[in-house]
Amino acid sequence: MTDLRRLPPNSTIGIFGGGQLGRMTALAAARLGYRCHIYAPEADGPASQVSAASTVAAYDDAAALDAFARAVDVITLEFENVPVEAVRRAAAVTPVHPGADVLEVAQDRVLEKSFCGRIGVATAPWAEVADLASLERAVGSIGRPAVLKSARFGYDGKGQAAVESASDLSQVLRTVGAGRCVLEGRVDFACEISVIVARAGDGATTTWPAVENRHVNHILDTTVAPARVSREVADGAEGIARHIAREIGLVGVLGVEMFVTRGGEVLVNELAPRPHNSGHWTIDACATSQFEQLVRAVCGLPLGSTERHSDAVMKNLIGDEVEAWPKLLAEPGARLHLYGKAETRPGRKMGHVTRLSARKED
Ligand code: AMP
Repeated sequence: MTDLRRLPPNSTIGIFGGGQLGRMTALAAARLGYRCHIYAPEADGPASQVSAASTVAAYDDAAALDAFARAVDVITLEFENVPVEAVRRAAAVTPVHPGADVLEVAQDRVLEKSFCGRIGVATAPWAEVADLASLERAVGSIGRPAVLKSARFGYDGKGQAAVESASDLSQVLRTVGAGRCVLEGRVDFACEISVIVARAGDGATTTWPAVENRHVNHILDTTVAPARVSREVADGAEGIARHIAREIGLVGVLGVEMFVTRGGEVLVNELAPRPHNSGHWTIDACATSQFEQLVRAVCGLPLGSTERHSDAVMKNLIGDEVEAWPKLLAEPGARLHLYGKAETRPGRKMGHVTRLSARKED
């Protein structure tokens, strides 16, 4: 258990990272009467636009980190690649949730998969790879097809390369780049799902139902809530997420990305100790959103009900898909969220739209 001081409304929540996840957290915080202070290397990002204060500084700027930590009452993050050293430095002044230990595991695929193995959570077969010789050995034991992923700083399919039956392994290694990697067996999945779990300092835990995720070009395109899987699979996935949250010592919100195999087995792919893109639908379809729950968890407030009042389909607006905004505004029942990004770029998440429907029996 983490003993959390209850922070009353009007306190200031510091957030590492300035993107849309920070923006939606800050909006949820504002509704409950809290202020947010954003720490990000870029000025005028989506989160700063809606926050009371911001610090524009690099993550290795010791003076800026110290001043930021002194100016806020608690710190959270919306970006899991915040350097652990920055988090440790800030945490010496003001509590940071989720903490550096959680972040360290989630930033490194080797640590993440070892952690899952240690707590009895299934993943795709994997092996650590450092060079061509260890890649050859790993392919020998795992087989083809497989996926080589850099251990650190990969997201949305970046730092990954497929190992097909005819792939040249030295070419695969060059594509992913230098550094530690993991080789994973390619999972022949029936679908990809995720569960978002929240955990408070007193150990109280909530989940939202498992949702189904469809990716296009390795980027999340659509989330269907709830996932169209059996009750057994959905309950199993929620149980895994709760188990991970407890074992990792989470205070905050964590997204668990999983594969459901054709045989109905659930394998964990990735952990993200922050609000997750596949949880945006909770703003419009649940009593408490993932963003409000993060605010509640880090401020030492009771967690809210995650009751789903509607079913939902969330579509990301990527690149110039955002230009459909006038049409989406005119669509009855479509709930449009735009992130305030000045420049549209291919592959950039510009907003999302959530379409609600009457809740069906699970
Ligand atoms: P990741 O960066 O690990 O989240 O991977 C991005 C996407 O690549 C996943 O959402 C899957 O669609 C696909 N992918 C990653 N790893 C595997 C795997 N071991 N087997 C099959 N598909 C994968």
